[in-house]
Amino acid sequence: MSKNRKEIPVTKPFLPPREEYEALINEVWERNWLTNNGPLVQRLEEELKEYLGVPHLNYVSNGTIALQIAIKVMELKGEIITTPFSYVATTSSIVWEGCKPVFVDIDPDTLNIDPDLIEEAITDETTGILATHVFGNPCDIDAIQEIADRYNLKVIYDAAHCFGTEYKGESVYSYGDISTASFHATKLFHTTEGGAIITNDAEINHKVQRMRNFGHAGPGNFEGVGINGKNSEFHAAMGIVNLRYIEKVIERRKEQWLYYQNLLSGLKIEGLTVSSNVDFNYSYYPAIFESEKVAINVKDTLEESGIAPRRYFYPSLSELGYVDSRKVEVSKDISQRILCLPLYHDLTEEQQQNIATTIKKTFQFV
Ligand SMILES: *Cc1c(COP(=O)(O)O)cnc(C)c1O
Repeated sequence: MSKNRKEIPVTKPFLPPREEYEALINEVWERNWLTNNGPLVQRLEEELKEYLGVPHLNYVSNGTIALQIAIKVMELKGEIITTPFSYVATTSSIVWEGCKPVFVDIDPDTLNIDPDLIEEAITDETTGILATHVFGNPCDIDAIQEIADRYNLKVIYDAAHCFGTEYKGESVYSYGDISTASFHATKLFHTTEGGAIITNDAEINHKVQRMRNFGHAGPGNFEGVGINGKNSEFHAAMGIVNLRYIEKVIERRKEQWLYYQNLLSGLKIEGLTVSSNVDFNYSYYPAIFESEKVAINVKDTLEESGIAPRRYFYPSLSELGYVDSRKVEVSKDISQRILCLPLYHDLTEEQQQNIATTIKKTFQFV
């Protein structure tokens, strides 16, 4: 094994019992139907809709194409108000779709877009809001919807981190005009690669279905412009099996999350303030240090011990070379001093203790 391979990575994909996956793959071999809305894709969509309690869900090839299709189907043009504190795909999708991202700063406690700052960023060119529920913690959904209604804007949520999170007793995916999910291997629920587009609106859903399959309305019949956003039977099989374990995965995350809180209490580290009315999924453990210097020192010290935290999100997306920067000081500041600590299903208590002890060591020298 490579020497550089960390003993404790920041994340590790959950892998289900191999026999369960193979049983589904054997079916694929028998049918010889590998992709193009196959039976496992349809089954996964049904199971996800039931588990999440959402009326429409389109399984796609990844969370980024989900964002791009969402922007396209909502016909957003001109300026889109968005958060600078997210993964690059949130901003790059806006630019890729020929729109201009307008950054609005975040709330330092929830790390989500600050709704009090949205209004002043709205211009005649604004057509939508694309906000991320950061680390699975829902945005101030009610405030955002109220502004969107008042200015006739569409709302898309990048809900890549949100599997299993509920807001006011409903899946957080139920909010906004569209929510997008990522089922990438590093996410809480994954299908190796994959994503989903979720909406409550049957008409939008119909358009999304066409759009993810080249615009096909039938063989030789096209309804509008489309792209290839389909996903395969192999990916769906992974999802079907992983869904059987998701409750266990979330339960374990919660224990680990609370254990970190306990182990790190008393240190000058800020965590995430979970919004109210939320049933949280504990998908990430962000630790915000006093300064960038402290954060880098902690990162270096952990890495020397074979532990890999991740600067996430870093950099603030307002720093990207292809966007117009707006003053978003909170996002810039927090992105410089935040680390996500290792969190994955089989991370042990001993490993968490080891991580906490190593972090404590660095604090003795600052
Ligand atoms: C993972 C992620 C994406 C991209 O999803 P992919 O499935 O990797 O394309 C987009 N936004 C956020 C916030 C993410 O964490």
